[in-house]
Amino acid sequence: MDAKTDTFFVSTLTEALQQLKNIPDLKVAAGCTSYGKTPDGTGIKLPRSTLFIKHIPELQIIDRKERYVEFGAAVSLNRILELGKKRIPAFFYDAVSSVASHNIRNLATIGGNTCRSDHKMSLFAPLLAMDAKLEFKSALETIQIPLSKFVSVPEGFLLSKIHMPVEDWTTALFRRLGPAYEISPLSVSFAFLADTSKGYLGDMSAAFCGPVSVKSREMENSIIGSRLPLSEKDIESVLQKASQIYDAEAEKSHKACPPILKEQYINLLHYALKTLL
Ligand SMILES: Cc1cc2nc3c(=O)[nH]c(=O)nc-3n(C[C@H](O)[C@H](O)[C@H](O)COP(=O)(O)OP(=O)(O)OC[C@H]3O[C@@H](n4cnc5c(N)ncnc54)[C@H](O)[C@@H]3O)c2cc1C
Repeated sequence: MDAKTDTFFVSTLTEALQQLKNIPDLKVAAGCTSYGKTPDGTGIKLPRSTLFIKHIPELQIIDRKERYVEFGAAVSLNRILELGKKRIPAFFYDAVSSVASHNIRNLATIGGNTCRSDHKMSLFAPLLAMDAKLEFKSALETIQIPLSKFVSVPEGFLLSKIHMPVEDWTTALFRRLGPAYEISPLSVSFAFLADTSKGYLGDMSAAFCGPVSVKSREMENSIIGSRLPLSEKDIESVLQKASQIYDAEAEKSHKACPPILKEQYINLLHYALKTLL
């Protein structure tokens, strides 16, 4: 750890929220797996004032009901995998197992995976496709933000909970592209959910996230209700909309996104739509 860092360890959520209120510029850290090394390579380069929240019991809770699962923000990725493929959606299980190595997943938390604002990490697309909601707490209030509206952690707040709706999708797909078990500007993830019954596309949700985040209800609505299998004309029309939406999001992000990402998004969406029968 950097010698110049002030570190704060707390054992309850109330204490953590008080520290956030009282100490200016205090930054939250959970598993610390996304921080770089110090220049001499012997420690972790943390912000100047760091509040460790990984071991707060209130942030370790997993609450599983029939229609949703709620994860405390400091739940480690390996604890999610311990639930098994039958107790969380199988495509989400695959997404969690795609993150880093077993050892890193012992430290890495679902909250840390969601909160990074410069690059959407591997679990962002599946959580976005499921319409997850984030609960943030400060010393004074608790607010909920749909993941689709999340930009960055509000000042003075920490992420306390992730509410993940669980539905019976007939098609559920997760893919990640870019280097395996690490994050680079080429790391993206794609999640595609669809409900197909009686020969029609009843519902659909598709998210592609990395340097940019793309999900459009308008695009999804343009094809929901179509007869299956989808015609080439229908697919072509959705892909054209998807292409325009991607361009708009990439422009809004003000980032130099590698051009191959757009191609990958369109190809993945094309592939997913073709699988619907
Ligand atoms: C070798 C290696 C491979 C990796 N491979 C992958 C990969 O394949 N896919 C992937 O997605 N990631 C990968 N990562 C990155 C990282 O391990 C994960 O994204 C992890 O889930 C981050 O969680 P964390 O608890 O360590 O977050 P931290 O590093 O502690 O924090 C990450 C960010 O989130 C903020 N934060 C954390 N918790 C909260 C909270 N409760 N409230 C508010 N803000 C919060 C922190 O301030 C920080 O900005 C890899 C890392 C390493 C070292």
